[in-house]
Amino acid sequence: MHEFSIVQSIAEIALETARNNGAGQISSVEVEVGQSAGVVRDAMEFAWEAAGRGTLLEGASLVLKEIPLVVRCRNCQKTFHPDELFDPCPACGDINPEIISGKELRVVAIEVKYK
Ligand SMILES: [Zn+2]
Repeated sequence: MHEFSIVQSIAEIALETARNNGAGQISSVEVEVGQSAGVVRDAMEFAWEAAGRGTLLEGASLVLKEIPLVVRCRNCQKTFHPDELFDPCPACGDINPEIISGKELRVVAIEVKYK
């Protein structure tokens, strides 16, 4: 499960931010996750619990914001929202997508508490 290493790096970013700001506790971390980023939400949440134990992250909520997959057909330039990355273009039937969004995996907000 690669979610564990992803969550580790999210946790490190959050902990470093909290330390640099002298925060006593992290209350939530918001992460944008593309529909095609290849992570499983449940696995992320499970890993999050494990990663936070005994740190400033303990009890912090992980807020996952899903970013829909949007691609542009390289053949006819139509932009659309496929369910799967390699769904054919609805306009010309070609399968030649360029990803516009949906691969994101980034921390967008960290909420901390001061003691
Ligand atoms: Zn097309």
